[in-house]
Amino acid sequence: MNTTDRLDLVISGGTVVDASWSGVADVWVRQERIVAVVAAGTEPPGGTDRVIDATGKLVMPGGVDAHCHVGYTSGEYTSRDGYRECTIAAVFGGTTTIVDFAIPSPGEVPLEVARRQRALAGDGVCDSALHASVVEWDDTTEEQLRTLVDEGIVTVKMFTTYRDETMASADTILRTMRALRELGGMAVVHCEDNSIIEEDQRRSAARGEIDAAHMGTTRSELAETAAVAEVIALAESIDAPVYFVHQSTPAAVGLSADARRRGVKVYTEAVAHHLTLDAGLYDGDDPERWVCCPPLRPADRVAGLGELLTRGEITTVSSDHCCYDLRQKEAHTHDVREMPNGLPGVETRLPMVFSRFVAEGGLDPRKFVELTATNPAKVNGIHPTKGALMPGSDADIAIWDASTRWTITADTLHMATDYTPYEGIEVSGRPETVIVRGTVVVHDGALVESGARGRHVPAGRLDPDAWLV
Ligand SMILES: [Zn+2]
Repeated sequence: MNTTDRLDLVISGGTVVDASWSGVADVWVRQERIVAVVAAGTEPPGGTDRVIDATGKLVMPGGVDAHCHVGYTSGEYTSRDGYRECTIAAVFGGTTTIVDFAIPSPGEVPLEVARRQRALAGDGVCDSALHASVVEWDDTTEEQLRTLVDEGIVTVKMFTTYRDETMASADTILRTMRALRELGGMAVVHCEDNSIIEEDQRRSAARGEIDAAHMGTTRSELAETAAVAEVIALAESIDAPVYFVHQSTPAAVGLSADARRRGVKVYTEAVAHHLTLDAGLYDGDDPERWVCCPPLRPADRVAGLGELLTRGEITTVSSDHCCYDLRQKEAHTHDVREMPNGLPGVETRLPMVFSRFVAEGGLDPRKFVELTATNPAKVNGIHPTKGALMPGSDADIAIWDASTRWTITADTLHMATDYTPYEGIEVSGRPETVIVRGTVVVHDGALVESGARGRHVPAGRLDPDAWLV
């Protein structure tokens, strides 16, 4: 990339925060990419069309949200957004790449579902990548996985729960992991032991405690721990890498951390709501607003998870965005087994995590970037195109005003729903200007460029023998 050509954009004088480096610098952008990060005030030899003064602000890579469900259908419920709505909310929240899931309904073919979902990327105002999903191994699965990896979809989600919907057996998980290891992909696993969950729910129902107010006890911590232990053993037995989505307890994260220390390539995702909200919310009004899987955990577990994050035991922080609205959340509050699980969160992930951990908790902003942009890009095979401010990286940039204090309310958010699980919470820090491949899309709380410019970002093969992070 030639630094003597005329630039499209210079972001000047801000504190540039990359995962590995931070300092006052200028960022040079040309033809949708970062050309260079240079000493503040350096004159670009070919001039520039535009300068954004970022003095006093943090200039970070746009967030990468590795766990978003866009327009997800589960049973009778379909979450309310499409790529356009989800990505608009994402960019307002400082996220410039989402990773969605192509989860087959019973009878559907994983490869076909993935291709169908990938075709929607063009509706977005920012880019997206995709996880495929396997429910049951059959004669065609290996060939489908090979094609998926060839087409840039290298991560494959499986669930140990949701019988008759998405639950995969240990056989399926092991075979899929083994195939992905050979192909340069990685299994992404939702871990809750289904037998324990069903027994938890049966006992809760027998006590008359199966409504939303009892969500916390209808899916036990033990169920998560048991499934994590088994899946680690499956991965360890064949030396395959594995990524755990939404680990919600210190016990589950601890199992992963122990496995990592003995050389198993285990990656831990935590999600924003498990790090910032606790099960006490089920005791208050409207407990259905926090019905998600795994459920919110008791306050001491939330504190423990936060400590593990600051100690470096967590790989990524995602949202697990699933945009149901109140009509859907309120339809069957008497029985959590009939409720839609999931919380809207693509827009609030970065502000909540920045506020709690950086502004209030003293976490190094570089670590924030690593957890919310760089590591999610690395484990998904899209780094350094995404999640970095390096020469050649896409110019996906979020300029943060770290000093702004504001209150999260559904009225001021952009997700395709009518509530937020964070209603009324005051936070510090806000993405003020958000840039997607060199174009300013959000500035000062307004969508200044609303055109569909999203692309599917093809993932590169992952090296099963190298640490991704
Ligand atoms: Zn999810």
